[in-house]
Amino acid sequence: MCTGANLPGRFDAQGAVTAYVALGANLGDAVTALRQAVMAMNCVPLTDVHQTSSLYQTAPLATDSGGEAAAPGPDYINAVVALETGLTAPALFDHLQRIEQLAGRERSYRNAPRTLDLDLLLYGNARIESARLVVPHPRMLQRAFVLVPLVEIAPDLVSAEQLGAVAHQVIERLGPFPVSPFPGRMPG
Ligand code: AMP
Repeated sequence: MCTGANLPGRFDAQGAVTAYVALGANLGDAVTALRQAVMAMNCVPLTDVHQTSSLYQTAPLATDSGGEAAAPGPDYINAVVALETGLTAPALFDHLQRIEQLAGRERSYRNAPRTLDLDLLLYGNARIESARLVVPHPRMLQRAFVLVPLVEIAPDLVSAEQLGAVAHQVIERLGPFPVSPFPGRMPG
């Protein structure tokens, strides 16, 4: 829970950028991991969680190879959230990585099962290509588990063609994102 200056609702969103973050987890209590991640994002300075997609379930895929190869591990729980933030993209990304680490993510090998994965999909209209951060996320268009939740909360950002290209990937909607940590603040 946030304390002091990070209490929710304190952020005047004037001049804020809308950023979209994909969440995924497939170890332990994945739903709780996603719910806690949203609470943690709401505690990031100058940042409010604005919308949450539904929760989805997907089989693990090695999509980073550009293919559809199966990856080991249990099914993923996925969602996408919209943030309003006054932080720069690198500063926001630092916080997302810290939240991942606090969730106990182990980067043992590529596509390894993970307690929590946070991908910065979009940061306004920005295009960023640094050694550690690429935005828009370079693999987002290959992934139904990104595009399906994203189109739910940002229908203008995903085209029918882009959705069609991942339509063969199995994704199951589980239901609404569980209880908002701060009732009334997250219409998603
Ligand atoms: P992954 O294991 O697929 O989540 O990849 C994590 C790595 O991707 C980290 O080393 C990040 O620095 C890098 N990365 C580059 N751009 C992004 C992005 N937009 N969101 C998340 N991770 C990114």
